[in-house]
Amino acid sequence: MAWYPGAKKMELQPESDRQDAIRPTQLILHSIAAPWTPERTYEYWRDSTNLESHFGLGYDGRLAQYIGTQTRADANMYANERADGTGAVSVETASDDDHSDPWTDAQIAALIKLGVWMHRTHGVPLRICRTHSDPGFGYHSLHPQWSDGGTACPGAARIRQFREVVFPGIVAAVNGGTVPDPKPETYAPFPGAGWFKSEPNSPLITAMGRRLVAEGCSRYRSGPGPQWTDADRQSYAAWQRKRGFSGSDADGWPGRTTWDALRVPSV
Ligand SMILES: [Zn+2]
Repeated sequence: MAWYPGAKKMELQPESDRQDAIRPTQLILHSIAAPWTPERTYEYWRDSTNLESHFGLGYDGRLAQYIGTQTRADANMYANERADGTGAVSVETASDDDHSDPWTDAQIAALIKLGVWMHRTHGVPLRICRTHSDPGFGYHSLHPQWSDGGTACPGAARIRQFREVVFPGIVAAVNGGTVPDPKPETYAPFPGAGWFKSEPNSPLITAMGRRLVAEGCSRYRSGPGPQWTDADRQSYAAWQRKRGFSGSDADGWPGRTTWDALRVPSV
């Protein structure tokens, strides 16, 4: 069984010892619909379900591996149940709750490096899987046989990144290019308390909302979107309470201290 040196090994038992051997011919990417660290994903597989993926990838680009790549993992349905013994290696990646956000630069760099390793270690060919059993690289919704009744995973933004950035990046890196180091994330400065009270319509409100969702403070029924609404205020109030504020300090109108702690990416 093979363990990727770029991942923290967190072996999942009893699955790691009990599940069938596979010959890995595919790498399939997922979004887990939760903003989880690789450690949290491990706990979920261990405690809450008998499913699992081979890898978990956090927003910050850190990877953990739960199952050796020559052992079956139960993401992606029939990709793991082929009679010829071939199978898919699966990567779950941190995302927002409805997997609508794009991968971060750090996630993209980690996926490219993992893809290079899959090519070099297991001979996964440099193409996008043409059928559900065709060796290559793919994402969960690419072929219906890879899910039970269909899935939107990993989400439209990430499917586009897969086609335009991740897969071409793997090909380029194998062919002698280097994997770009991710740009350090830059955060939006506090725009001032009055700005929020003007009920702005701005991509910064969407970015703020995504971070509130990631922090488990969502009070959104739909979205988040660019228009400041009462759902933003209620979600922000939940964030203020999470940071230890109460009363009028947790009224949902953003202040500098909680804004800086939220680390909203620049838009
Ligand atoms: Zn998936």
